[in-house]
Amino acid sequence: MMKTIGYATHSPTDTLQPFTFERREPRPEDVAIDILYCGICHSDIHSARNEWGGTHYPYVPGHEIVGRVTAVGDKVSKFKPGDLVGVGCLVDSCRHCAACEEGLEQYCDNGFTGTYNGEDKIGGTPHPFTFGGYSDKITVDERFVLRIPETLDPAAAAPLLCAGITTYSPLRHWKIGAGHTVGIIGLGGLGHMGIKFAHALGAHVVMITTSPEKGYDAQKLGADEVLLSTDKEAMQAAQNRFDFLLNTIPVGHDVDPYMALLKRDGTMVIVGAVEALTQVNGIPFIFRRRSMAGSLIGGLPETQEMLDFCGEHHITCDIETIEIKDVNTAYDRTIKGDVKYRFVIDMASLKQEAA
Ligand code: NAP
Ligand code: ZN
Ligand code: ZN
Repeated sequence: MMKTIGYATHSPTDTLQPFTFERREPRPEDVAIDILYCGICHSDIHSARNEWGGTHYPYVPGHEIVGRVTAVGDKVSKFKPGDLVGVGCLVDSCRHCAACEEGLEQYCDNGFTGTYNGEDKIGGTPHPFTFGGYSDKITVDERFVLRIPETLDPAAAAPLLCAGITTYSPLRHWKIGAGHTVGIIGLGGLGHMGIKFAHALGAHVVMITTSPEKGYDAQKLGADEVLLSTDKEAMQAAQNRFDFLLNTIPVGHDVDPYMALLKRDGTMVIVGAVEALTQVNGIPFIFRRRSMAGSLIGGLPETQEMLDFCGEHHITCDIETIEIKDVNTAYDRTIKGDVKYRFVIDMASLKQEAA
């Protein structure tokens, strides 16, 4: 076993504190990774505070991991020591159900293993549940390891592993491109990547935000227009305009004002509210045949496709790099929507702290 240092929380109301645990030694199909950077996803916070239920403590968050390979098992064919790699939200799945066979491991019929808080079916440590990337190293089956283009800044690439794929996947699934008017709702880690991808795919992009000051970044991120969702008149005037809406709001909310923005046959995809939506009226669906759908991260092949797309189009995330000791403040700021647009932990700070 490999001694690993990280940060964990021990209850829904604790802060994250230094924590030592074990990782498994690489098996023949495993890749051992020295973690360089890890993004802070709002899901890390929901789980730390047990807002979705089912969090096992101690809990080590982190599923936007970039690092360098330090060792590989005998059967590993895709990676070698020194490679720049990423690990996202998944570290295992059944590999034989219809979803896994299609490369849609996130929809595994037998349940995928999350990078953190997942039941560890591989074992090799005393810990029954997986620990995430707020740590100095990780051991992962090569099937769940991704290649990061060397042309990308590794810190700014880290959030692609969740925020990137979660926004890229629905835009691709609904075939968004030139001629579409797309609204991205909520400008945090996910939303700002939604804007970049929708723009790169050729759509006309509208940033839909509650924060007027984020509008100053609209053009830089790739938005053609800004719509302030708190401005009732502007929302009224924007009704029936959108082919597609990507809704990243992290809490339950009244969806009706957003549904009304869709054209006939338009779709709003919910990725943020992993909980009850407070009001869903049938009228906007029935009149104009609109749809509401959901989407969960992305499978391994599509995540690699997204990373290669970012390499070709020079797309990375806008980040604020922090030392790990500041992680609890970063959580508070993320909850307030006070992040432009993703916090990324520089894991050198963890290694220095432990030295
Ligand atoms: P984030 O960085 O906190 O961004 C969320 C943004 O939503 C905020 O910056 C804010 O943007 C807006 N917002 C916040 N509260 C709001 C409210 N009450 N009403 C309207 N807008 C509000 O979060 P994130 O990391 O992007 O994650 C967003 C959500 O997606 C989280 O719930 C996360 O757990 C979930 N998630 C889902 C998946 C998936 O696979 N489906 C994957 C990753 C994350 P403005 O200031 O622009 O209004
Ligand atoms: Zn995430
Ligand atoms: Zn499966």
